[in-house]
Amino acid sequence: MSRVSAVRFSHFLPSLLLLLAGLSAAYVKDLNVFFTSLFNVLPTLVLLLGGSYCAVYRRQRELFLMITVYIAYFLLDTQTDFYRDNGRVREDAAVVFHLCCLLLPLLFSIYALWQEKTHLFRDFVARGAVLLAVGSVALALEQSYPQAVLNWLAEIRWPALHGSWMSLIQLSYPMFLIGFLTLAVQYWYQPRPLHAAQLVGLLGLFWMLPQTFILPFTLNIMCSQVMLMIAAGVAHEAYQMAFRDELTGLPGRRALNERMQRLGRNYVLAMSDVDHFKRFNDTHGHDVGDQVLRLVASKLSKVNGGGRAYRYGGEEFAVVFAGKTVEECLPHLEEIREIIADYDIKLRNSDRPQDDHQGRQRRAGSGASSVSVTISIGVAERQAEQRTPEEVLKSADQALYAAKGAGRNCVVAAGQTRRGAVRMESAAG
Ligand code: GH3
Ligand code: MG
Ligand code: MG
Repeated sequence: MSRVSAVRFSHFLPSLLLLLAGLSAAYVKDLNVFFTSLFNVLPTLVLLLGGSYCAVYRRQRELFLMITVYIAYFLLDTQTDFYRDNGRVREDAAVVFHLCCLLLPLLFSIYALWQEKTHLFRDFVARGAVLLAVGSVALALEQSYPQAVLNWLAEIRWPALHGSWMSLIQLSYPMFLIGFLTLAVQYWYQPRPLHAAQLVGLLGLFWMLPQTFILPFTLNIMCSQVMLMIAAGVAHEAYQMAFRDELTGLPGRRALNERMQRLGRNYVLAMSDVDHFKRFNDTHGHDVGDQVLRLVASKLSKVNGGGRAYRYGGEEFAVVFAGKTVEECLPHLEEIREIIADYDIKLRNSDRPQDDHQGRQRRAGSGASSVSVTISIGVAERQAEQRTPEEVLKSADQALYAAKGAGRNCVVAAGQTRRGAVRMESAAG
């Protein structure tokens, strides 16, 4: 497995906010009637809304995560209701609670790690079968041998490891620990908002269980929050799919179009294009080409002067400088152009062609395991006569053509000839 994107705090932010909101709400004493009624219906409401949302997006993994949390909520809520109404716990309270402490982290982790790969319907049946099998075995054992099951669950197997703070059955802790570790590894290799939500969700459940009979509404609030985290993760990923470019991780064309509608009176737009990229692809192969696009994107994303880079399409990138003049932006663009031209891209062995003929062709082209590329940049500033961002972008594009005409690897501002350009020798050019 190789990592496809970067670890980001923003992946965790929505879930952490939901967790914090849940924790604060759970500690509020003397809730008024409105909140009491709200918390009573919240888990069911969230399951219905979140579940149908997942179903529309065909996200079965998330749907089953929600169902698992909801079943645990339902079982425990029956117990807490009885406790609230009668002032004592039901006779099967201990065994039901302990089973939830064992099976909730287990099923939550299994569904969280179980990637959707197969046919949709078969995937649904397989997930349903696991839930049904685990549920019916647990129910059958609990009904037939309640005392034996209770003793087995409550047994302290490792006295040396038992701490007085442990308010759940001992078996529950390794379950949660394995869950945390495997979900953390999953996030590390595939840093996605949903994987972050699963991790924070498990943390919420871990906090919730010991409080179930202590803090009123903990169960309703935290189960709802965890289901909301999953739904928010799905929404976050849908947003990313629409607005982020998958290859480079930069915001894409749609995000640029949105940004362009919100620019003020003064701004600068730059269009950059990789030089002779078609030839580069032909010489080194499409995979190396992709690697180069990622590199160019990562350099452009670090442009100074408040610029924000977008992947416009193919090997073209746009940079937006809000509230800036072209004179202020030129040195920063020039700096980035130079950084990219000076950067030696090391080719990994796996990037070498498998095919002998192709290999000879490529080696003849590069002659070394390190290559470099250059970019040309056209810049335009909003003028009195160019009122819309589309017009400014068009003149940046014309300036880009002028930069290509001026020999590439340079920055040209609209309405001017090549300026400030330091020509660099390029292996690719
Ligand atoms: P110029 O210096 O005039 O820009 O020449 P060029 O070869 O870069 O121009 P052209 O627009 O003809 O070629 C663009 C190439 O970019 C063609 C296409 O194969 C390549 N390309 C576009 N998108 C991708 C991509 O996502 N990955 C890879 N590897 N190549 C891409
Ligand atoms: Mg192009
Ligand atoms: Mg090009």
